[in-house]
Amino acid sequence: MQRQLLLTLFLSIGFIINLRAQTTEEIVAAIEKEGTENSQLETLAYQLMDYNGPRLVGTPEMKSAHDWAVNTYKSWGIDAENQQWGTWKGWQRGITHVDMVSPRVASLHATQLAWSPSTGKKGVTAALVTLPTVGDSMAFAKWLPSVKGKIVMVSMMQPTGRPDDNWEEFATEASFAKMKEEREAMEKAWDENMKNTGYSSRTINKALEDAGAVAIAQSRWSRGFGANKIFSAGTDKIPVMDISLEDYGMLYRMVEHGAKPEIKIVAESEDLGEVPAFNTIATIPGTELPDEYIILSAHFDSWDGATGATDNGTGTITMLEAARILKKVYPNPKRTILIGHWGSEEQGLNGSRAFVEDNPKIVEGLQALFNQDNGTGRVVRISGQGFLHAYDYLGRWLEAVPDAYKNEIETTFPGTPGGGGSDYASFVAAGAPAFSLSSLSWAYWNYTWHTNLDTYDKIVFDDVRNNAILTAILTYMACEDPEKTSREKAVLGINPRTGEQREWPSQRSPNRRGGLD
Ligand SMILES: [Zn+2]
Repeated sequence: MQRQLLLTLFLSIGFIINLRAQTTEEIVAAIEKEGTENSQLETLAYQLMDYNGPRLVGTPEMKSAHDWAVNTYKSWGIDAENQQWGTWKGWQRGITHVDMVSPRVASLHATQLAWSPSTGKKGVTAALVTLPTVGDSMAFAKWLPSVKGKIVMVSMMQPTGRPDDNWEEFATEASFAKMKEEREAMEKAWDENMKNTGYSSRTINKALEDAGAVAIAQSRWSRGFGANKIFSAGTDKIPVMDISLEDYGMLYRMVEHGAKPEIKIVAESEDLGEVPAFNTIATIPGTELPDEYIILSAHFDSWDGATGATDNGTGTITMLEAARILKKVYPNPKRTILIGHWGSEEQGLNGSRAFVEDNPKIVEGLQALFNQDNGTGRVVRISGQGFLHAYDYLGRWLEAVPDAYKNEIETTFPGTPGGGGSDYASFVAAGAPAFSLSSLSWAYWNYTWHTNLDTYDKIVFDDVRNNAILTAILTYMACEDPEKTSREKAVLGINPRTGEQREWPSQRSPNRRGGLD
């Protein structure tokens, strides 16, 4: 036993001495080897997406994910904690089941929207109605009382469930053109009519609820086979259901033909009152410049129509994996490495805005932040975000990255500062050098972004592996850089859309109490 201890001690000292003498090339090679031969990405993805599930702010699943992240870091010897920044409406999704019960029986592809009120176990059964064509808001107000006891369909019926690329491949040119023309005309008429009602697609749910409707059915197609956007309900008492394009279209046609379809909705969910909202922050302390920071950044929350695999499960596991690799290969960084897993990005960058507001010293000491949040693809774009000298330091760091991880990356310098879109913008607004590692799309916007299809099977692990290794190398280089990064801002050009001089985005406060009246 003692001999073994002694041996371990010798080996450890040997390892430390060896590390000291390592060159940049050797560290980069070790990062690449660890990230390739000992990758934990599949395990992390399983635990976060399949086992834990979606991470909507205010849900118990969001809290269990935060706890999982802390425990995962601790198992790697990295300190981590959940930092509360506010509170949110607490809600738990329950069983959703929707069936057509008349004139025939069919189970439908449907789910309740986030924070939807519950129907209770018994559910609600009622006839469907569509919105009328009205000339003005007076006519709509006159129609409104007729929704009492009904389920109202508030989305336009799509003329086709085939995505455009499918039409492009198989249709004759003439019929593809005709379909697009007809669809455009339908959309125009729909928008016009919505305007006439005096409401918008965002406000109409509440008006229907107030008029006595018992539920709302909607279908927000994402222009890909089987893909719908799943956002929040926007009602206080009645459930709001997303129904697949296929089933929604069938029901809509039946209403139009006078078949009087009825559906039964069971949407069990639970209002959990006001619950705390967190960021998970992990730390690998710096040895020489502990008050200067490199932040690995990815929002941790998701919408809950699926399991948030590419928004932002992949950004999340990229940062976890990069941190794990760094802890193993480069355990004593010159500067401090923080990993920020932000809460409630989806409702307006709330977690990261709170962190920026609450930690001015860290923002002041920021050497660089790397954020990833647009899908599973390889990183192909990095912008200097309007920092005049970003080219110098990002260029230096990228030089150390082997070609395989950077040969598709297009850089823009100095670029323009991002005003939103993801959490790096919270730091850029405070004048701190924060960058987005932008991914190849992999049909993100249609198929996975905020849809019912954002699941584990869409993850392209080799691309995520690429990104974890890239992030680890950039972080290592930013830690070791002899210089502190410059924050000098470039003179921003004219915005071609407005013709006006661009202004640096201003720092905004988070919503620290969301979804509650
Ligand atoms: Zn996102």
